[in-house]
Amino acid sequence: MRIAETVTFGGSGLDRAGRLRGDAEGLAGLLKAGRILPVWRGRPLCADGGHLGWLEAGHPALAGADAPVFLGLDGDLPRFAADISHWSPEAGAEAVQAGFFDPSFQTHPALPGALGFGELRGVMLRLSPREAELAATAKALVQWHRSHRFCSACGAPSAPTEGGWHRRCTVCAAQHFPRTDPVVIMLVTHGNRALIGRSPGWPEGVHSCLAGFVEPGETIEAAVRREVLEEAGVTVGPVRYLASQPWPFPASLMMGCHGIALTEEITLDPAELEQACWVSREEMLTVMAGRHPAIKPAREGSIAHFLIANWLADRLD
Ligand SMILES: [Zn+2]
Repeated sequence: MRIAETVTFGGSGLDRAGRLRGDAEGLAGLLKAGRILPVWRGRPLCADGGHLGWLEAGHPALAGADAPVFLGLDGDLPRFAADISHWSPEAGAEAVQAGFFDPSFQTHPALPGALGFGELRGVMLRLSPREAELAATAKALVQWHRSHRFCSACGAPSAPTEGGWHRRCTVCAAQHFPRTDPVVIMLVTHGNRALIGRSPGWPEGVHSCLAGFVEPGETIEAAVRREVLEEAGVTVGPVRYLASQPWPFPASLMMGCHGIALTEEITLDPAELEQACWVSREEMLTVMAGRHPAIKPAREGSIAHFLIANWLADRLD
């Protein structure tokens, strides 16, 4: 797909500068000259208007932060991220709830009121491609460190090395690398119609492309066929890869594909899908315009929205 990398979180060509990660002294120098993105409980610091909030090393809001991770060079400017999830707002963090999307904006006493911690889904459309790549990388790496503090081989604590791109076990020296979980997400079509569905718990009316994790030992194409058959009972023939999207909620790489259905009858797996249906191009236009009486589109910025919009515009090539 020629416009694949225009998807939200598509590559911006950030210089990840892997060559610099092993030089701890050099990284300390880069940190002094660079800018740090604080991440609080999975939320990057951002301005209400939609830019990321970058701080200099030593800023009071970074007090007690975990060791910064080195994101790379943005032009000449070194970029880092630091986890400040230990910080507790005086008023409590009750507003921050697990759920599909939390629109709350948490301010910090050491920062101007226009800056706060917001959910990345809420600002992703307003970020530049470079900021989106930095935010996705920061969120995924910080989350990985939070959830992988112990060695999976022996259970002892591990410690970050390589600017935050490895963890090394303090006892058995096993090396651990940041996880990225492959997910297939597929625009399945049959003639003039596309297959969409909704999972239990999604906001009312929202329908999207079917998706699922790739299993060990499976190709992308096989995963597409298996997921569609399991979830909707539809047999898929030819599968073509279209575009990918880093999706740091928390650590997925969405691999967008186009699958051609060989059958039409839908048999739902109710554990996975609450509903699935075939929607014609004409009907999908009203869905995407927000004018359909029953079906709401996938969130703008998601690869599902991107694939469907480009299918309608005949730009999947
Ligand atoms: Zn170990």
